[in-house]
Amino acid sequence: MNEFELIRRFFNRPPADGTVRLGVGDDAAVVTVTPGHELLLAIDTMVEGRHFFADVSPAALGHKILAVNLSDMAAMGAVPRWALLSGSLPDNDPDWLAAFGDGLFALAARYGVSLVGGDTVRGARSFTLAIAGEAPIGSALTRANAQPNDDVWVSGTLGDAALALAAMQHPATQYRIEIEPATLTALRKRLEMPEPRVALGLKLRGLAHAALDISDGLIGDLGHILNASGVGAEIELARVPCHPALKALLNSADRASALHCLLAGGDDYELCFTASPVARAALADLSRGLMLPLTRIGVITTQPGLIVFDEQRQPLPTLPAAYNHFLE
Ligand code: ADP
Ligand code: MG
Repeated sequence: MNEFELIRRFFNRPPADGTVRLGVGDDAAVVTVTPGHELLLAIDTMVEGRHFFADVSPAALGHKILAVNLSDMAAMGAVPRWALLSGSLPDNDPDWLAAFGDGLFALAARYGVSLVGGDTVRGARSFTLAIAGEAPIGSALTRANAQPNDDVWVSGTLGDAALALAAMQHPATQYRIEIEPATLTALRKRLEMPEPRVALGLKLRGLAHAALDISDGLIGDLGHILNASGVGAEIELARVPCHPALKALLNSADRASALHCLLAGGDDYELCFTASPVARAALADLSRGLMLPLTRIGVITTQPGLIVFDEQRQPLPTLPAAYNHFLE
């Protein structure tokens, strides 16, 4: 199977809708943009050994390389539409590629995203996916507009993926609490097959003042909103929503690990956003409608900086640091 057969067999599937005038197979894709809309563009790379284990399920990996990009579209309040995939592959194993494609295209179909092109090379396993989405002109949600006295909200639960990763990297006695196998399976699903909050992002247009997706931990990512908006925040640890297993760890001798997972763990792919207190009722309705927890965890302050209050309303003296690729 040569490069072109491989592309045809595994990456050339019919587009999701009529916006794709020309997809896989030419020098560039041609798509029709909705009048009155802006394009939103994002890209993410996943490298074996850094972002996934060599033995990860290929279907999960296909899901995740798209999911992380959909999460960026969600954070901006954009409708995801077209994707380009660049794959570096050590071999042309058809079973592996078929499973990867199935994971990718299943998620793409659910969100009406078309894979319109890409590039395929031989090398160490890594994937880069670029996505384009649309939003009505001027409606995109950014990090820059958080306002003093806004509530700070997060979707879902935080720290699940980081807890799964920690448990997988250090099995057995890493934690002084037991993580039951069924719990670990659920947490692992959050790590390997995250669900992008696209529907939430779209509904937050006009409701949220600032938004982003949490991919590198709450503290670091909320910090981006604070910096971009020139404000600060106060967060209550007890309000930050988490899985019961993480809650138990928080109250155990291994509290430091739990704090790290909850506040600085990667791969949450939940949305963090700020909104006026006036929006509380609308957000409660939205949470019910989407069947997705939305939790108010704190408030935006005029004073720059981030303070996290513990269960006794004492500020945490040090905040766990986020993952950083080029941190020495
Ligand atoms: P070119 O040499 O013109 O850049 P390629 O020979 O690399 O084109 O690719 C042939 C066609 O297949 C192009 O339309 C390209 O967008 C598409 N393509 C290549 N790799 C992938 C992939 N992994 N997924 C989807 N489309 C791909
Ligand atoms: Mg090429």
